[in-house]
Amino acid sequence: MSFNELYGSNSFGEAVMRERLPKAIYKELKSVQAGEKDLGIEVAEVVANAMKDWAIEKGATHYTHWFQPMTGLTAEKHDSFISPTADGRAILEFSGKELTQGEPDASSFPSGGLRATFEARGYTAWDVTSPAFLSEEGSGGCKTLVIPTAFVGYHGEALDKKTPLLRSMQAISKSAMKVLKALGNQSSKRVITTVGPEQEYFLVDADYFSQRQDLILTGRTVFGALPPKGQELEDHYFGAIPERVSAFMNELNIELWKLGISAKTQHNEVAPNQFELAPIFGYSNVATDHNQLVMQTMRKVAKRHGLICLLHEKPFRGVNGSGKHNNWSMGTDDGMNLLEPGKTPEENLQFLVFVCAVLEAVDTYSPLLRLSAANTGNDHRLGANEAPPAIISVFLGDQLQAIFESIAAGKSVVSGSGQKLELGVTTLPKLPKDLTDRNRTSPFAFTGNKFEFRMVPSSESIAAPNFVLNTIVAEVLEKVAVKLDGAKDIKAAVKDLVTETWKNHARIVFNGNGYTEEWVKEAEKRGLPNLKSSVEAWPYFGKPESVALFEKHKILNKEEIHARLDIVLEKYSKQINIEAGVAFEMATREILPACASYAAELAGQAQVLSAVGASQGSIAKRAAEIAALVDQAYVKADSLMKAKLIAKDVAEALPQAQAFRDKVFVALEDLRAPIDALEKLMPKELWPMPTYEELLFGL
Ligand code: ADP
Ligand code: MG
Repeated sequence: MSFNELYGSNSFGEAVMRERLPKAIYKELKSVQAGEKDLGIEVAEVVANAMKDWAIEKGATHYTHWFQPMTGLTAEKHDSFISPTADGRAILEFSGKELTQGEPDASSFPSGGLRATFEARGYTAWDVTSPAFLSEEGSGGCKTLVIPTAFVGYHGEALDKKTPLLRSMQAISKSAMKVLKALGNQSSKRVITTVGPEQEYFLVDADYFSQRQDLILTGRTVFGALPPKGQELEDHYFGAIPERVSAFMNELNIELWKLGISAKTQHNEVAPNQFELAPIFGYSNVATDHNQLVMQTMRKVAKRHGLICLLHEKPFRGVNGSGKHNNWSMGTDDGMNLLEPGKTPEENLQFLVFVCAVLEAVDTYSPLLRLSAANTGNDHRLGANEAPPAIISVFLGDQLQAIFESIAAGKSVVSGSGQKLELGVTTLPKLPKDLTDRNRTSPFAFTGNKFEFRMVPSSESIAAPNFVLNTIVAEVLEKVAVKLDGAKDIKAAVKDLVTETWKNHARIVFNGNGYTEEWVKEAEKRGLPNLKSSVEAWPYFGKPESVALFEKHKILNKEEIHARLDIVLEKYSKQINIEAGVAFEMATREILPACASYAAELAGQAQVLSAVGASQGSIAKRAAEIAALVDQAYVKADSLMKAKLIAKDVAEALPQAQAFRDKVFVALEDLRAPIDALEKLMPKELWPMPTYEELLFGL
């Protein structure tokens, strides 16, 4: 099959719709997608029928509403197209109603108590803007038509990750349009946020994986000493991709291309056996769906190659973790990128205004952004000893920063090429990408025509970071629109805006190395929050001013926010609880018994050697050293269990999560120290599980 035939062959996307839908219906559907019209049942009937025919021609027998509950995974409920007839036969059917609405049994998905206060039902509603697709291995190997949906409760309460994202896209469109109108734009009808999430991941050999209880049950290694070689040589970054991995990548590409997901670049990351996939960007909600599919497909295809794909944020201690780089921008329906520096004066004003809005939003609401990237795994990546600090700052690049500084100081602007620029009269330079993209340590970097939010956890849906980003920028744009609306001299008004923004929010801009200790101190001086763990960050979500913000833009109401807060806190506690249980078992049932026997064996050898008068002092010493560590580890394992039991008994979600972080997690790290020391003292063949060396270099 040629690439052209392959690409999108399993996606009910633009091309298929144009081909298969009557012109009038296609046009109607486009207006619905653009938010100009509501979906009528007649349109739904015709689309459902076309989807069904397309899917059945491709061998599908089932359809499913696909959604993203708060578990962070995706869920689906399969139904068959088969409909019995009165005369005992069956026909294949799919109605408009079946397309637009479903009612999965919602009771088993976390709702944070939302359903208890309303009703136990949950509904899935077709997301008209995200293309349906064909899954080749649905339940029982049936090909299945998959319909992306939002999942809500009886009264419309958001029960999933996607609903607030869709709401936030509406909110930012509304506010951004007001700003565009104030700037004199008469052609654009709406603003759409775009996202290109780069996905980092590790691959490990499936055999090694299956011998590590920690990897199987928690996705990360709770123990493991670094081999003599780590990532210090940096020889993996952009190095040659191992054959087995490239076979995996090729197949992954094909699977993704079929779904109409464009995997563009793939290369080795800094850490050994770590890789990255970058798709071509799309609308935020479609990009979010596609990223879920990317993760799902990675896991599936890896297994076919005897590999396991690790999406955990920090599978290995002492080695770089994984994240997602959430490349984000705003565009108009008529094709403008609002963060493109541009060439004409009008666009320059526009660019400055939208960058100002992002700066103010990120500075004012940085705790919200920080918490949108919080999860248990990311706690090892952000704010931990070896990772970037959890401080949000914005990288603008020297050139762009100079432009802002000059405007704010009322000076004429000098471009990179030495050319003088008068705001709104001459043009801003199109920023060369390499000037803006050198800083890899910034959590929020301007990269040419978009911002790259790099704190996002690798294993998590990108819905939360994006709905937060959209909401906070929408809020600031709303205020900007008021300032610019009806301005007699728009250039002067923009100049005032830049000056004011720079005065109040320049503290968020930092172009230096974000990984240094000096920056942590400097940030503190600037008053920038440093929320080191998820548990410190999440409570900001429930603060009255946050609730007011999300309610104002109709993203989430107070109940929905508190429900979500309960869900993430509970998940955090449960995950650390599992990690503690796993660490205890691995220590007491696998590692320590092996170490104790070896210590005894060594001691026996020393005795025998001593009996023949041989020198054995260092052997006896080694035996004693191992025995002491084993003894220490048993004591620490018991303390871990005790801390775990105490934390489990805490009733409220927040103090419980705090107990898991401050007591259980700390006890786990405490146990890790003697275990990792033992690993270095034990003979290789007696260590009961594959080591970092095998996991990281064994492909
Ligand atoms: P890099 O040099 O970091 O690889 P790219 O231009 O390839 O830069 O972009 C990285 C990611 O950013 C890709 O996933 C790409 O699709 C995405 N991206 C590019 N432009 C936009 C945009 N306007 N909005 C959102 N994402 C974008
Ligand atoms: Mg990147």
